[in-house]
Amino acid sequence: VSFAHLRLPKELLEGIRKHGYSKPTPIQAQACPAGLSGRDVIGVAETGSGKTVAYLLPMLVHCAAQPELKKDEGPIGLTLCPTRELAVQIEKEVYKFNKLLGLRSTTFAGGLSKYQQFRTIKGGSEIVIATPGRLIDIVKMKGCNLQRTTFVVLDEADRMLQMGFEDQIRSILQNIRPKRQALLFSATMPPRIERLAADFLDQAVRITV
Ligand code: AMP
Repeated sequence: VSFAHLRLPKELLEGIRKHGYSKPTPIQAQACPAGLSGRDVIGVAETGSGKTVAYLLPMLVHCAAQPELKKDEGPIGLTLCPTRELAVQIEKEVYKFNKLLGLRSTTFAGGLSKYQQFRTIKGGSEIVIATPGRLIDIVKMKGCNLQRTTFVVLDEADRMLQMGFEDQIRSILQNIRPKRQALLFSATMPPRIERLAADFLDQAVRITV
């Protein structure tokens, strides 16, 4: 399989080439088509597998297909992840591609300036990458709302649960409209993750690499 087989917009294909990604990794080859088709996805994959790009490409395509954000509307695509370090890493991948489709992105995580995060989200961001605690803080402070969110990713779900974020994740997902696409990535699938997936994903395609 090559990226050209994935029916991505030519701007993205160009970006992928420019960044030297010559062929999709196994998780990308399987999760991208499922994500692009609109299905929910469970991806059992470790860090280093290329899972970030596997969900980002469908997320970017989804966001680009939605009507433009109006003033004070929150993100269309949301990625939840366990730590600031991972959030910053994901942001780096987003920055390789979002401008190609005219999409804006903001990262919410502890240890980053709340003021700065408020300012960027005010200007509008189709994509938000966040740790669960900080996202809830900002939503409570009315800095951001999830009314427009229709594509949500749980990245490193097992680590988020190990860190005690289950209640926060459930509360965030309950506040996102039910008609949405959800993707869950996890290195392991213990019963608690299976339950989370069963509660919030709908007929998910399961991919194990
Ligand atoms: P991840 O598993 O998402 O943390 O990605 C691990 C690393 O692989 C990151 O540094 C990516 O930039 C890189 N990467 C992702 N997809 C590809 C690809 N198709 N070809 C080469 N490198 C990639």
